[in-house]
Amino acid sequence: MHDLTRCVLHPAVSHVGFASLAVPTYRASTIRYEDAQSFAERWDRGFDGYTYGLHGTPTTRTLEGQISELHGGIRTILVPSGQAAITFTMLPFLRPGDRVLIPDHVYGPVRQFCCDYLAPRGIGHTVYDPMIGSRISDVITGGTKLVWIESPGTGTMEVQDVPAIIRAAKAKGALVGCDNTWATPLLFKPLAHGADFAVEALSKYVGGHSDLLLGSITVSDIELHRQIKLVVHHTGVAVSPDEVSLALRGIETMGVRVAHAGRVSVAFAERMQQFAVVERVLHPALPSCPGHEFWKRDFSGSAGLFSVVLKPEVAAQLGPAMKALKLFAIGASWGGTRSLIAPMAVKAHRTAVPWPHDGTILRISIGLEDPDDLWNELESLLRTLESGLTS
Ligand SMILES: *Cc1c(COP(=O)(O)O)cnc(C)c1O
Repeated sequence: MHDLTRCVLHPAVSHVGFASLAVPTYRASTIRYEDAQSFAERWDRGFDGYTYGLHGTPTTRTLEGQISELHGGIRTILVPSGQAAITFTMLPFLRPGDRVLIPDHVYGPVRQFCCDYLAPRGIGHTVYDPMIGSRISDVITGGTKLVWIESPGTGTMEVQDVPAIIRAAKAKGALVGCDNTWATPLLFKPLAHGADFAVEALSKYVGGHSDLLLGSITVSDIELHRQIKLVVHHTGVAVSPDEVSLALRGIETMGVRVAHAGRVSVAFAERMQQFAVVERVLHPALPSCPGHEFWKRDFSGSAGLFSVVLKPEVAAQLGPAMKALKLFAIGASWGGTRSLIAPMAVKAHRTAVPWPHDGTILRISIGLEDPDDLWNELESLLRTLESGLTS
């Protein structure tokens, strides 16, 4: 053997006596086959077999299997983002003439996808009141193929009556998908309530460090899995094993991160109600939150994301006051170790039910910093705004 060949062929080393707690990161485009026959018959391996790096490696299958177990599903499909997880749940099942129902508080890009991509292709959508509950029956028309749920809504925090919506949708033969990003499978399991798809942005709590983008779709029906896999397969969509490897690391600590952020978020939400500049705190764990009773009934705890509505009078002072923030970063993709604040305006985006507040919404994601340091900074922000109220 010559050196050039030695460069390309790696030596086989012993694995005897070696066991790591970490999941190996398998990078692969090519999958190597034992013989010509197994290569010729590779497509017979189906979606659970290995055929090409694009369609899965042991690294991606490990995370898929882990999320399936957490959700009590039978298969999970990983896609490159949370948004892709939503669109790849819609695309396989919607044809021209069909309709999808989306809640008024839905993650913004989903509404845009419905308007800008689905509508021109003859696929309709109806925006419904997130608090509609079993009355969703009245909105489900003959063409309705899919009812979308996001609970709580990750800007305005309304908790939906998920079991009632699922019962009504099933009675009319519609599929139900649930964006479960806020809860993670640790706090709520949509499939256990009869949802067809549990969808999550792993970019948030599973990744947990604001450095990766991934989404997952979990199902408990093998035929639904097949239909989604077909579209993912044919469109050439795949996830990077390196991203998945980061998610496999992140998910190990998700339990303590979410529990901690949840505890701190409830404490802060309660305290923030006392401030004159705060018109309303929106947190599923507070009795004043729309759907609080469903959160108490269906969820096993709180996550670290909540919102406060500020008095409209302080709108002009907000930008300058936020310049003083040192711990809270201004940004959108929540669920990381670093606490975030995102000022949001929702009124103009609501089409089903008018949003009753004019003030800016501050969406707050609690991270892993010392809670006292975080509270000092929040309190000082609110006091600065308060001085603007009285002057
Ligand atoms: C962030 C988010 C998404 C999108 O996830 P990306 O990975 O950023 O595409 C979808 N739904 C909810 C509720 C989210 O918070």
